[in-house]
Amino acid sequence: MNVSAISKIKLEGREFFIKRDDLIDPYLAGNKYRKLYKLLKTPPNKLNKIISYGGTQSNAMLAIAAMCKNKGWEFDYYTKPQSKTQKTLDIGNYFHSIEMGMNHIEIDESLYKNYIASLSLNTNAGEFIVHQGGAIIEAREGIEVLAKEIRESSIETRSIATPSGTGTTALFLALALKEFKVYTTPCIGDAIYLRSQMQALHEIPDNLIILESKKKYHFAKPYREFIDLHKKLLTTGIEFDLLYAPSLWEALLSQTKERVLYVHSGGVSGNENMLTRYKKKGFI
Ligand SMILES: *Cc1c(COP(=O)(O)O)cnc(C)c1O
Repeated sequence: MNVSAISKIKLEGREFFIKRDDLIDPYLAGNKYRKLYKLLKTPPNKLNKIISYGGTQSNAMLAIAAMCKNKGWEFDYYTKPQSKTQKTLDIGNYFHSIEMGMNHIEIDESLYKNYIASLSLNTNAGEFIVHQGGAIIEAREGIEVLAKEIRESSIETRSIATPSGTGTTALFLALALKEFKVYTTPCIGDAIYLRSQMQALHEIPDNLIILESKKKYHFAKPYREFIDLHKKLLTTGIEFDLLYAPSLWEALLSQTKERVLYVHSGGVSGNENMLTRYKKKGFI
């Protein structure tokens, strides 16, 4: 498994380094590759099924689908009922995951919470549960490989940034790189929610810094300032995702001054679907 490159970009007159985890693979890239690293190293005959759950356009879902296809493992993915229009889309993470053999199981809204909780109680031998967004203790191993790559790159900065959903990536990165500051932003919910998600995995170290934007953004909703920033980022020659990257970039540009190493968390495959929503809103 190859070491991802580090690029240098200029944005608003500042220099940033970008850890190019987006280039690892079209489907199995970014922090999902890192979080699934331990499973990716598992010999195919050790497991026969991966079980997971969450959103129907999730980047984690797509990465798991790609992994299971490579390994010859079954993949059962549970979600709340999905809209008909989403099902018939021939773009986006859902479409590609189904193409790669994912079994999609819809659970009624009223039963969903209990059903998901019961999944962990009923696993058979050869089955493995990946919690929503890849928030699993096993993710630590792959994030430590990422940390080692960063340390060995002798990069001229002591500040790292990566956006958070579950916070798994930022948390394990901060734990593995005590000599660095690790900046992150909560992209799903607020800082309090993010902290509780992280604490379920490990105590939060002091070098992890949560930057919050002044405005409250709802996850996966189109915002004009996000698409504007996205376009500005495209001029650097690197494409970033539209769900997580914009709020972290906004926070970095307004709340930090130093050179920062931004760990690209992937997710670019979801942009096609988001861009059609931006178009519908009239933002592009
Ligand atoms: C999943 C994802 C995240 C969030 O990662 P966590 O480890 O859950 O915090 C951030 N960026 C992108 C592009 C993602 O796909």
